[in-house]
Amino acid sequence: MRNGFPIYDTHTHIGRARHSGMRFTAEDMLRSMDGYGVERAVLIPYPVVEDHRAAHDEIGAAVAAHPDRFTGAICLNPFIPEQEFRDEAARCVEKLGLRALKLQPQYQPLNPVSPRSDFFFETAARHRLPIIAHTGSGVPFSLPSLFIAPARRFPEATIVLGHAGGPTYALEAIVAASVCENIYIELSSLMPHHVLEVLAHVPPTRLMAGSDLPASLSTEIGKILDLPVEDTVKRAILWETPRRVFDGA
Ligand SMILES: [Zn+2]
Repeated sequence: MRNGFPIYDTHTHIGRARHSGMRFTAEDMLRSMDGYGVERAVLIPYPVVEDHRAAHDEIGAAVAAHPDRFTGAICLNPFIPEQEFRDEAARCVEKLGLRALKLQPQYQPLNPVSPRSDFFFETAARHRLPIIAHTGSGVPFSLPSLFIAPARRFPEATIVLGHAGGPTYALEAIVAASVCENIYIELSSLMPHHVLEVLAHVPPTRLMAGSDLPASLSTEIGKILDLPVEDTVKRAILWETPRRVFDGA
């Protein structure tokens, strides 16, 4: 709890990142969460890892050890053989209990508009996994508007636009969420005034907060806590919406 609000951090990473050299363990994450007052977090693999099965196993072990604190996500290079992609996703759901699917177009250039990418969205739909799509850096495939196409092709899918397109493309994220009720927005990397602009168009029942990195935790959650909005809005963003999307609660 922080300022009387339960906190759900919907965007964190554990494992070892090949591209940045970062390394966080589940224990590091728990220390960071406890230090700030975060109840739950979504653990996501880094987009570039030495061994995706080992990265998923590490997250599966964290979820098994701390089911009250963590929800786990899958992240897989979409250009491994398609059957291998589908099989690893199934293993993550059935054996490890992971419950979301991340796409990181900056390192995984999947074209969301093309029906050639349907296998990705079909995999999420088959296992009822909300999709967390990184948006912003990594243009063109990370443009928020591109996710309108799969959101319409897969109306049962839930697509969360990670980072809300960033400050440069936040208006696209607003447009995408305005025309598709199954598009949600995760607000990390926006300035507080951008968040207020999002709130003018998208209900808090489709918004959530995330830190991405422990170093950004107090900034990202603090900016929501400090917004000049009703407590019910903050509670929806910080807890109720992610709880429904990722835990079905
Ligand atoms: Zn991230």
